[in-house]
Amino acid sequence: MEDCLFCKISKGEIPSTKVYEDDDFYAFKDIAPVAPVHVLVIPKKHIANIASLTPDDADVAGKMLYTIQKVAQILGIDKDGYRVVFNTGEKAGQTVHHMHAHILGGKEMAWPGV
Ligand code: 5GP
Ligand code: ZN
Repeated sequence: MEDCLFCKISKGEIPSTKVYEDDDFYAFKDIAPVAPVHVLVIPKKHIANIASLTPDDADVAGKMLYTIQKVAQILGIDKDGYRVVFNTGEKAGQTVHHMHAHILGGKEMAWPGV
């Protein structure tokens, strides 16, 4: 999608620190980390957020969870544990309207944290 920041990042049109890439997904470091490890995982297909998924997106949505698992292993936080956040829509504070998972780790985290 034109004028989408994360579409541009996944195509390499805007620089980012890549952590992982395959045909369908791109993972990169968040520019403003809120934890010692803070990586974003995005599908290369433009999907605005979880709320806008359609049945056609079921395959990419499922593969995204598996990709998150793989990226957490690459980051070395899979054994200690990590948090996965999908901010979805205005009240959740979603600022970039291309679906993304925040992988947060490298510290003890409190719960609930809302
Ligand atoms: P949201 O608030 O939509 O869930 O998260 C968007 C995230 O994207 C934020 O954590 C923000 O720091 C990150 N972000 C925004 N612009 C850029 C950018 O240009 N590069 C990178 N690497 N991260 C960005
Ligand atoms: Zn996009």
